[in-house]
Amino acid sequence: MTIAHAYAAQSATTPLAPFSFERRTPTARDVAIDILHCGVCHSDLHTARSEWGPAAYPCVPGHEIVGRVSAVGSEVSKFKVGDIVGVGCMVDSCQHCQPCADGLEQYCDNGMTGTYDSQEQVSRANTLGGYSDHIVVFEKFVLHVKHDEKDLAAVAPLLCAGITTYSPLRQWKVGPGHKVGIVGLGGLGHMGVKIAAALGAHVVLFTTSPGKAADALRLGAKEVVVSKDPQAMEAQRNSFDFILNTVAVPHDLDPFLAALKLDGTMTLVGAPGTPHPSPGVFGLILKRRRLAGSMIGGIAETQEMLDFCAEHGIVSDIEPIRMAQINEAYERMLRSDVKYRFVVDMSTVRD
Ligand code: NAP
Ligand code: ZN
Repeated sequence: MTIAHAYAAQSATTPLAPFSFERRTPTARDVAIDILHCGVCHSDLHTARSEWGPAAYPCVPGHEIVGRVSAVGSEVSKFKVGDIVGVGCMVDSCQHCQPCADGLEQYCDNGMTGTYDSQEQVSRANTLGGYSDHIVVFEKFVLHVKHDEKDLAAVAPLLCAGITTYSPLRQWKVGPGHKVGIVGLGGLGHMGVKIAAALGAHVVLFTTSPGKAADALRLGAKEVVVSKDPQAMEAQRNSFDFILNTVAVPHDLDPFLAALKLDGTMTLVGAPGTPHPSPGVFGLILKRRRLAGSMIGGIAETQEMLDFCAEHGIVSDIEPIRMAQINEAYERMLRSDVKYRFVVDMSTVRD
């Protein structure tokens, strides 16, 4: 056992505050990691505040982890002490169902183990995440980071925001000649813009924040549409091959579905705690449109995404924060005031 220094929420209504707990002693197949940086995902806030149902407390969020290996178990072959590694939203899964065999551990039939507010496979202990100074993870769920060391803080958000946008963009085969919409320029959305542009698509940002237009164009969008403007939305009717919706609050999906062309798909990755108003049936029927969902990505695909981003020079646009600024960061995230991901410098966890 080692003592981890962390920040935790003690209930749905209390701010995050310093907390320490015991991490398991690494087993033969485990990698122990000193955490350097941890991104702040909207899912952290949804969970800490029990917006997706009751969380287990104390709750230590954080699933965009980059760190340095401090120890490896005797059976670990892919990592050595000193390696720079990443850990995303999962730390284990059952390892014997069909989705696990297919490298789709996030869809494990027996329930993947999330990095926080989840249950370890054997002990069923509550998992505690990356807002902490170190973590112990089963080798299979640890990723190699090949980016320059100077970029590591900006790599952290790839572990969730990066893979959550990369996976559906690849699943729906986004590429040259496609008109692709990204809804919402937050943590996920800004990665979606960068990755869709790198895949060769014509990218259009839908935003509720007109002030983000210049940034969207700089990040790789070719057009910006203010989604609160009905005329601007109407002008986009029947024109998109694919739309990725990253919005974290319930909203009317129909104007976005209307923007899809025949056989177009809108995939939801944003996960508000309460439902969207039901989409109108005719918006789907009349153009054989599809509404879909997607959750993060498997481990092999996460490694593929990290390598793709390293090759294409893609990192997140970040605002580094100290651990003690986390509650303020949550409030700013709720106001869509993030450019475009907060990342905690984990050396500040005990300040
Ligand atoms: P975020 O940084 O807060 O971004 C969300 C964006 O949504 C905002 O920046 C804003 O963009 C837009 N938005 C906010 N309020 C809105 C409103 N009232 N109407 C329309 N748009 C609004 O959050 P995030 O970290 O990217 O996460 C987004 C969602 O994805 C969360 O629900 C999160 O839990 C979920 N998520 C899902 C997965 C998955 O596997 N499916 C993985 C990670 C996260 P504009 O200012 O541009 O409008
Ligand atoms: Zn996340």
